[in-house]
Amino acid sequence: MKRNMLKDYKEQIQDADLVLVGIGRELRADRVIDFKKAITNEHYQNLIDKEDEDSKWMRTVYEREYLLSMKETDLFKELNEVLEGKEYFVVTSNDDGLLYHTHLKKDHVTAPCGNGDFFQCSAPCDEQLYPANLGLRDLIDYYEKTGKIEHLECPKCGKQLIFNVRTEETKSIYIEGAYLNSWASYTKWLQNTLNKKLFILELGEGFEVPSLFRWPFEKMAFYNEKATFVRVHHSLYQIGKEIKEKGIGIKMDSRDFLNIAHE
Ligand SMILES: [Zn+2]
Repeated sequence: MKRNMLKDYKEQIQDADLVLVGIGRELRADRVIDFKKAITNEHYQNLIDKEDEDSKWMRTVYEREYLLSMKETDLFKELNEVLEGKEYFVVTSNDDGLLYHTHLKKDHVTAPCGNGDFFQCSAPCDEQLYPANLGLRDLIDYYEKTGKIEHLECPKCGKQLIFNVRTEETKSIYIEGAYLNSWASYTKWLQNTLNKKLFILELGEGFEVPSLFRWPFEKMAFYNEKATFVRVHHSLYQIGKEIKEKGIGIKMDSRDFLNIAHE
């Protein structure tokens, strides 16, 4: 039997003491949710295919608002099923907050690149974070009443507010703060993995921020004698020869691996 779907690893995962999961770009919200179908609002629909900066921003506003207010999704159902009853932790390089809207244990998820649930000053003039949901609602109401696309201003210095997420463009101004508690839980959890039968599952992570978990996972697989390592990616699935005996690289889109429907 060819073992190439998540469910094929269920037994091995259930047999592990601890399960460490990394979730990367292949499972980003815009790759697993078709916003064009999901957001039926006519104002949003009219923005689709417009390529000017304002329209793109306004689409982002609708999409972020959709993500923040969505109910718990079953998208990661298969992941949930294999993790059932296990002690696990999930780290993601995505900044969409999606994992907090799944059935995963919220206090066992960390998202160091942000969740889109806060705004911050683009200067930034201080470390203040502003809840995003109210601001997004304001922008949407204003746009639907007047047809005008606006940005929010920092109440302290008047510069534009931006999402408190870490991207290539924002990495030098990103205010760390919102994720630090969950990150502390994560690092504490990791200390506990030594000498445990650890199953490491890396899904769809490329090289955008390899120091976040791609490289650390390889290191853990190498140093932990009882580790098993599974890396899934449509093109960056290769694993080093030092961990070949403990691991496998699966050449597959992580959405297919988790059985998530997509175009
Ligand atoms: Zn400011």
